[in-house]
Amino acid sequence: MIVILKQNHNEEQLDSLRRWMKSMDIDIHTSQGMNQTVLGLIGDTSQVDADLIRALEIVEDVKRVQEPYKKANRKFHPDDTVVDVNGVKIGGGELQIIAGPCSVESRGQLCMIAESVKASGATLLRGGAFKPRTSPYAFQGMRADGIELLLEAKKLTGLPIVTEIMDLSQLELFADVDVIQVGARNMQNFELLRRLGQTDKPILLKRGLSSTLEELLMSAEYIMSGGNEKVILCERGIRTFETATRNTLDLSAIPLIKELSHLPIIVDPSHATGIARMVEPMALAAAAAGADGLIIEVHNDPPRALCDGVQSLTPAKFDALFKRVMAIAEVRKQIDQERTVST
Ligand code: PEP
Ligand code: MN
Repeated sequence: MIVILKQNHNEEQLDSLRRWMKSMDIDIHTSQGMNQTVLGLIGDTSQVDADLIRALEIVEDVKRVQEPYKKANRKFHPDDTVVDVNGVKIGGGELQIIAGPCSVESRGQLCMIAESVKASGATLLRGGAFKPRTSPYAFQGMRADGIELLLEAKKLTGLPIVTEIMDLSQLELFADVDVIQVGARNMQNFELLRRLGQTDKPILLKRGLSSTLEELLMSAEYIMSGGNEKVILCERGIRTFETATRNTLDLSAIPLIKELSHLPIIVDPSHATGIARMVEPMALAAAAAGADGLIIEVHNDPPRALCDGVQSLTPAKFDALFKRVMAIAEVRKQIDQERTVST
């Protein structure tokens, strides 16, 4: 249930509403927007008489929220959430580009890629230290040593780092990591999500291989219900009957998520397509569709990459992609401004 307050409402009356809700074991999530204050009531609201609340002098309207996700719901928080990662703002109109190798392989490889993607304009560095691989015999990542190298690359370039956690036991190693990624395979690892909800780190939550958007939002809700509201969603392609590409990029997820939720959503065209030459067209399409960011795999020597070389761009290809994507982002910004003015 949400309660929309009148502008210039009386604070004493608001306190009394808070106390009343508390006496019924209902938590209140307050969203102070530009034009409106919205209270989200969390708990068993079936006992709450909406008409009684509506009758209060400070209340403009009361609505029941049918969706099972509350804190992630746009109705609870009408304005876009902007996640601030060391000054890099994800959400709210800018397009941020996260780039780097699928896996951290060596100091030389990571630092070289980090410097080149930074020179192109990327604002965050990605790199897997713990790798979820289909085969137990495939390269599993450099693990703790990989995190150390990411921290070195961060020092060298100043780029905040994004890397994947696979298990709760690894959390200590992530103390200086800027964004913790939860990969597609762990999207419904609820214990992991719950624990990450107790941290104050931004979480990049990737959509599961066969997950619906509602399931993705429910996973975000797990993190947010613990108190951590810094969640960035990621569309990275889903399983369909199509085998020509590694996955099928669901671009409609972007405008739909933006309707349903206030959380930022980024797109991973590398894992979505699995083919390096498909990455740019899908990155351009994602920027046009309104994505808040992109996460792109870049490798200095794709044929020799230890993981995902076929979908990795060379630094030169990434540089060209970056300029084209930014051109689309500019056009989109203009269109968004025109739309805001005309509505
Ligand atoms: C990755 O980003 O390195 C990764 C493994 O992605 P996903 O979880 O989307 O497969
Ligand atoms: Mn990869």
